[in-house]
Amino acid sequence: MRPVKRGDNPTDSNGNPVDFKEYGDARDDLIKRIGDYCSYCEAPLLAPAVEHIQPKSKEAALEKIWSNFLLACTYCNSAKGNKTVDASNLNDYFWADTDNTFRAFIYEKDRAPQVDVSLNATNQQLSNSTLELIGLDREPLHPLLTKKDRRWEKRIEAWGKAERARFNLSRQATDSMRDQIIDTATSTGFWSVWMTVFQDYVDMRRRLINAFKGTSEECFDHNTQPVQRAGGKI
Ligand SMILES: [Zn+2]
Repeated sequence: MRPVKRGDNPTDSNGNPVDFKEYGDARDDLIKRIGDYCSYCEAPLLAPAVEHIQPKSKEAALEKIWSNFLLACTYCNSAKGNKTVDASNLNDYFWADTDNTFRAFIYEKDRAPQVDVSLNATNQQLSNSTLELIGLDREPLHPLLTKKDRRWEKRIEAWGKAERARFNLSRQATDSMRDQIIDTATSTGFWSVWMTVFQDYVDMRRRLINAFKGTSEECFDHNTQPVQRAGGKI
């Protein structure tokens, strides 16, 4: 899961914080800041919807509050639904805007994201809870997978594209090939898949971190290895 920096509340032309009349009004600012990808499954979004980290049904006071917003696809949004996420259990999950969520899961070919078993027991629990909350563990044979939910299939397609891109780069290590790969990656989405497939290519990982709008650079060292996020749980 890509760690993102949403930044401070956007300001109007007078420099005052924008007061969103409707939560949907924050959509374009969110796209500008964090790109039009699902903040959970990382799929590219044709119709990005403002996602409430703490659902408005549970925390009505946060309905129009910038710091409670991400962007999400229909499937992550409905898997999370109205499950209770509020001030009492917010810290039972990892969040892309405050944690280094790239450290929370392992991405592998042909599998749903997995809990990283090298994490300590507490973080493994948080990782597992987050996968379940968003339904990122849903893949064929999972009892809750619906026919329409093709997040798993899109992730596998992205993996295939990333592997072919890596092969092409090995045959033709030019800047134009690198540019082309980044174009393919940003239009395909699934940033974590690309970061994983290119794990031994520091230059490509730097480009991926920069090219996907709003990726939190502070979550990575100069060799693109993930590091603890300041103020985060991981
Ligand atoms: Zn999603």
